[in-house]
Amino acid sequence: MPQTIVNLAYLLASALFILGLKGLSHPRTAVRGNLLGAVGMLIAVLVTALDRRIVSYEMILLGLVVGSAAGALLALKIHMTAMPQMVALLNGFGGAASALVAGAALHEAQGAPAALTGQFTVATVASGLIGAVTFWGSLVAFAKLQALITENAVVFRGRHLVSGLVLAAALGFGVRLVLAPDQTATYWIVVAAGSVLGVLLTIPIGGADMPVVISLLNSYSGLAAAATGFVLDNNMLIIAGSLVGASGIILTRIMCVAMNRSLTNVLFGGFGAQPVAAASADSVYAGKVKAASAEEVAMLLETARRVVIVPGYGMAVSQAQHAVQSLANLLKSRGTEVLYGIHPVAGRMPGHMNVLLAEADVPYEDLKEMDEINPLLKQTDVAIVIGANDVVNPLARTDPNSPIAGMPIIDVDQARTVVVIKRSLSPGFAGIPNPLFAAPNTLMLFADGKKAINEIIRSLQEAGVTA
Ligand code: NDP
Repeated sequence: MPQTIVNLAYLLASALFILGLKGLSHPRTAVRGNLLGAVGMLIAVLVTALDRRIVSYEMILLGLVVGSAAGALLALKIHMTAMPQMVALLNGFGGAASALVAGAALHEAQGAPAALTGQFTVATVASGLIGAVTFWGSLVAFAKLQALITENAVVFRGRHLVSGLVLAAALGFGVRLVLAPDQTATYWIVVAAGSVLGVLLTIPIGGADMPVVISLLNSYSGLAAAATGFVLDNNMLIIAGSLVGASGIILTRIMCVAMNRSLTNVLFGGFGAQPVAAASADSVYAGKVKAASAEEVAMLLETARRVVIVPGYGMAVSQAQHAVQSLANLLKSRGTEVLYGIHPVAGRMPGHMNVLLAEADVPYEDLKEMDEINPLLKQTDVAIVIGANDVVNPLARTDPNSPIAGMPIIDVDQARTVVVIKRSLSPGFAGIPNPLFAAPNTLMLFADGKKAINEIIRSLQEAGVTA
């Protein structure tokens, strides 16, 4: 295929990627954005397959069949709540693919020494190092989120020194490979050092910082792909990798801001390694928690003029989004204003609540981000917290020693009455008690999220409220 056609097709695919990303920035255009990105990827893959240097279509087909089967199986089997682990794994595979392709290109280039240029070898080293860090870092993130290893930060004395030495070794061997590109074994030493570094960098990151790490690893996988684009001299891969790298780092920043952490603090702080001296659950809750029934909550809702629903991880677990939407419709039908307060790190992945509520056809204009909803909470009659805990924990504002200190929260405690729906007084992801549950204006409805909402709907209907 003539190079001009290839380049034009790549240009078209790149434009589709950019339009796709723009579409993904808003829920209303996200589906179209996703489709545009997918079409761009199809064009890029087809044109590359028709381009030069294809050694064996059989091998490509075999890879496609195995990869598609594994991907489809994973996507079908995975629970919505385990999506972050899956994203971590996918990032990891991207990094591994980049490191392996760069390694294969290095071995292939040994037959044509003129190909071993400075750009080629520098890019190969970058691809191997970043790809290995991404793969192993993602595996550790996966193991932590899947609870295969401890979720807490694992730290040891001198870890920064060890990481620094491993990085220096990786860079040293990288320079050696650039100077002597025929020493292919050096490349695999760089990959091995990158692998150790990936583990060392992710293992000290604990608990609530995982979302930041996942988006950072996503960014790394893009950088590794871009480096592989330089190895293969493929403009498409350079552009696509850079887009992933840039959007990953933007998402990382957004997550850091949402959790009130700096990236350096997340990466090197070893946050969550030592259990903090949090007040015991007993001292926070004893004698102060008021339980309510679904009927009591329904009575409150009957007279409410504004209701704010704040969903969290528990809504995902109980798959209560459709029930929540039905309750909102019921209340709206009698003139109650119903809004949703969405915290950026509610759930277990960025945008988790938006995805679930969109699935239940909740109108986008009802979803309010933290800055929009917080000023409205003082004039809110009932705030219903469903399966959220850390993102509404006032300790973030009041206890500088808490693992969530300084994290912006949704100020549900400012509402006239707060109804918290969860099964028990168990803590959330950060593992700390929540004084909101013992606040004078809070009622606890202890039940599974979906069951509780359906019972509230039934009680409202029994009281004559119908949509
Ligand atoms: P939390 O993890 O703080 O709390 C979730 C609550 O849901 C639990 O206290 C649990 O209480 C309740 N719950 C569980 N199952 C059910 C059920 N079936 N019905 C009703 N309630 C249920 O969730 P938040 O969304 O408030 O906060 C998210 C946390 O996760 C933050 O700390 C964030 O940093 C972290 N995180 C976020 C990621 C992201 O990208 N969004 C990724 C990884 C971590 P009980 O057992 O009593 O029912």
